[in-house]
Amino acid sequence: MRLILLGAPGAGKGTVGEMLVQKYGVPRISTGDILREEIKKGTPLGKVASEIIARGALVPDEVVVEMIRGKLSEKICANGFLLDGFPRTIEQAIKLDDLLKQRGERLNAVVNIVVSKEIIVRRLSARRICSTCGAIYNIEFADQRPAKEGVCDVCGNTLVQREDDGPETILKRLEVYEKQTAPLIDYYSARGILFEARGENSKEVFDKIVSQFGG
Ligand code: AMP
Repeated sequence: MRLILLGAPGAGKGTVGEMLVQKYGVPRISTGDILREEIKKGTPLGKVASEIIARGALVPDEVVVEMIRGKLSEKICANGFLLDGFPRTIEQAIKLDDLLKQRGERLNAVVNIVVSKEIIVRRLSARRICSTCGAIYNIEFADQRPAKEGVCDVCGNTLVQREDDGPETILKRLEVYEKQTAPLIDYYSARGILFEARGENSKEVFDKIVSQFGG
């Protein structure tokens, strides 16, 4: 399975992606997670990315394309992958096409997860992530809260709010999404590999993907 999860920030790509990882055993590759890891480690890339992410802008295409090139060549991606948060621009999509061509691989599908702006803003404002393992929670919804406030169910470490989940940065990220990422909907639709799922309920998105792919 080679799948792209497309959708605005807060559409639930990470949540649906983790459900698919459990079901199909393919890795979820999130460029956002990789960048946050670089920031945590204090690498030169992390230092540059930190400032860009904090203001809700996009990291340069060359940087993320190289990250993806490296990741896809790892053994864990031999039988497929889920891309979450990549590509985010037409330029990145073109580079991904080249990369897959070189590897003799094809995308199976691009899932566009659609959620209203109101829900996105509510979700992102209440999102909390584990500072260690990256598990995602939402304090507004009873079924997405951790068992113990502020503590990760998975690894027991502290939950934090992402620096770019503040109100102003959320709006900026949505603007960037509309301008730079939404054109990918037409790009993949023209290829006949795009399908859409309403994302208010992530489990329903998961079920829809499973009914499409079987297994
Ligand atoms: P995410 O976790 O996918 O919401 O990504 C968080 C932030 O990382 C984004 O707002 C961007 O600043 C940066 N980022 C993640 N993926 C990409 C990408 N494919 N291209 C450019 N910037 C990215």
